[in-house]
Amino acid sequence: MKKIINLCLLLMLGQLGINGAHATCKDAQVPGEGEARGSGCRERPALQVMACEPEWGALAKEIGGDDVVVYTATTGLQDPHRIEARPSLIAQVRRANMLVCTGADLEAGWLPLLLRQAGNPRVQPGAPGYFEAASFVTKLEIPTRLDRSEGDVHAAGNPHIQTDPRNIAQVAEALSKRLGEVDPAHAAAYQSRHAAFSAKWNTAMQRWEKRAAPLKGVAIVVQHRGFPYLSNWLGLREIATLESKPGIEPSSSHLSAVLAQLQRQPAKMVIHAAYQGDRASAWLASRTSIPVVELPFTVGGTPEAQDLFSLFDDTVQRLLKAVQDTGSGQ
Ligand SMILES: [Zn+2]
Repeated sequence: MKKIINLCLLLMLGQLGINGAHATCKDAQVPGEGEARGSGCRERPALQVMACEPEWGALAKEIGGDDVVVYTATTGLQDPHRIEARPSLIAQVRRANMLVCTGADLEAGWLPLLLRQAGNPRVQPGAPGYFEAASFVTKLEIPTRLDRSEGDVHAAGNPHIQTDPRNIAQVAEALSKRLGEVDPAHAAAYQSRHAAFSAKWNTAMQRWEKRAAPLKGVAIVVQHRGFPYLSNWLGLREIATLESKPGIEPSSSHLSAVLAQLQRQPAKMVIHAAYQGDRASAWLASRTSIPVVELPFTVGGTPEAQDLFSLFDDTVQRLLKAVQDTGSGQ
């Protein structure tokens, strides 16, 4: 009996260490995402993870399983560059044991404010609970000169790393290690879930690459510079961008220049992320014969993209359909 009480006390202390004033028990969680309530010492509490974008929320669930409660700050239909620092988000940062975000300045317009308002030392930059996915992959489009007149986003290299599944694999490995550091009691579980995910992911990547073979060398136009990693992975050739500066609506003179370029150098499709309106893409499509392709960009961007696996199933499917609809060749 005394042994049981001691164990109970130990677990309670463990809870305080992990969750501070928000001691929770896994078995007392409310259904669905987000908040977990309750107290007691029947089980160790789940780690509270706040993901900035849906792809990292999905990955944290893959690796964290029942040992984490994941709250995702944004949906696949929100622009991750521009999020309002709402009080509900501040509350989530305040209770988080770990933050899983893209970094590379993607959240520069909103995350620093959330971190300041929340004042939670566990997830401040430099703390083990602060995880930036982009720091674990090789970034593309790192500018050679810093000039704010070039637009105010992507100054640290292109942050949209989630469109290449090889990047997801690298982030998954780093995330499983970091989860184990923040929550050592479950380190073995994070490691074994990562091993299972990794095996499944490698098989899926081979399947996607095989299916996507007809996309190699296909010329495309992008609305926002959101897809260099996808293009790099599949061998798509981005020949023009509708936004002349990232995050800034294209001017009519720039659109006319792109149109003139496409007459000399045709493209197969114009792509945009689901969270963005398709105004510029539709304008181009109405003046050329090329289709507009909406890509999910992240989990939840389209009804089909329900998790990380279906995100890439759907992305490849939509690109292939556009190529098939416009005929073969480049
Ligand atoms: Zn961007």
